[in-house]
Amino acid sequence: MNQDVQQWIENHHVKHQPFCAYIYDLTGLSRHVETMLEAIPQDTHLFYAIKANPDRKIIETLLPVVDGFEVASIGELEKVRSVSEEVPVLFGGPGKKEYELEAALQKGVAYIHVESLLELQRLIHIARNMDTQVSVLLRINLQTNALPTTPISMAGQPSPFGMDEQLIGEALSLIRSHENKHVHFRGFHFHSLSNNMHADWHIEMIRLYIQKVEGWKKKFNVPVHVLNAGGGFGVSYDENPDFDWKQFMSLLHKEGILDRLEGTKLFFEPGRWLVANYGYYAAEVIDIKKSMEQHFAIVRGGTHHHRLPASWGHDHPFSIVSVEEWEYPFERPEITSGEVSIVGELCTPKDRLHTNAIIQKLRVGDVVVLEKSGAYSWSISHHDFLDHRRPDFYYMEEEMNYG
Ligand SMILES: *Cc1c(COP(=O)(O)O)cnc(C)c1O
Repeated sequence: MNQDVQQWIENHHVKHQPFCAYIYDLTGLSRHVETMLEAIPQDTHLFYAIKANPDRKIIETLLPVVDGFEVASIGELEKVRSVSEEVPVLFGGPGKKEYELEAALQKGVAYIHVESLLELQRLIHIARNMDTQVSVLLRINLQTNALPTTPISMAGQPSPFGMDEQLIGEALSLIRSHENKHVHFRGFHFHSLSNNMHADWHIEMIRLYIQKVEGWKKKFNVPVHVLNAGGGFGVSYDENPDFDWKQFMSLLHKEGILDRLEGTKLFFEPGRWLVANYGYYAAEVIDIKKSMEQHFAIVRGGTHHHRLPASWGHDHPFSIVSVEEWEYPFERPEITSGEVSIVGELCTPKDRLHTNAIIQKLRVGDVVVLEKSGAYSWSISHHDFLDHRRPDFYYMEEEMNYG
């Protein structure tokens, strides 16, 4: 585990017992994104999809380094706008309500990702009533088996996201009709998959997008300002490596793919890959039991704070921070060189963070730290189930001025 984080937990856990906290390494996060941008081609722009982690401090940290944010609800839009009134925002998501479209126009989003013909008609109607101009990208669900498959796929198959490519003509005629003077077509949006580990697959997918867009440009005789290629860069929760961004960038440069864009800007809007590695969920061991030859370590916390391992059914990577203090007159339970399942405080067998982990030593009072907990962790969890206390939130910053 990151030494700074380990040190930080050793220094802080004593004050808050039993310890249960999310710790976000904001300094690491901003360095990570700066490094990502070093190799990014001209006319390629990076947006952060805040649903991966909408914590205000994360948004504030990313504000100076990214080109903007992707949001998919009015709540997310307000969150971003409370941090910056001007930063470019992409507004997507299926089932946008009238009040969301109105808010998007009032709060000045850069592009709306239109996900259906009805939504487009609604938007034209609303923009006309408000007498406001708005730029849109059409979100397309390609009908192809040429897309890579990952455990989470949103396209290349029947899906509620975006529109089938056969509807592009109809969408463009709605936009071109003489009743519409407010909604402007600017390009296409794709977000076909999540958690892809393979840079070369990602390149093939982008090549396909570009080829499609080239065809539509000719077929419909429209200029395309933006091709938004979505997010989906993967983070590995087992021993395999994460998506290789460096390799991806070098392939993007090398293969001359971008020459074919001819002035169309390329957008990426990742969530997970930006933030996953900069969040830690730390939970103190409350009890250790042996049941029918199997060991269980029960922590202060669980899947109501960190639902990802339950949601994906995986064993989450973790490390252990040893704590020497033991204030009780009775014996301190421990396991040495053995297998243990790390479970939470909820009264349900689903509250499992890791099954049969091999450990050297784990004692009651030690802190289990789930790594890679910066994305889709706290905000996807069912916090109210069983009404346990919430975790604390800490932010490691250069100044180290946390409470
Ligand atoms: C969730 C989402 C993203 C981010 O996906 P990651 O897999 O976290 O990179 C980007 N765009 C859209 C439209 C999304 O729904």
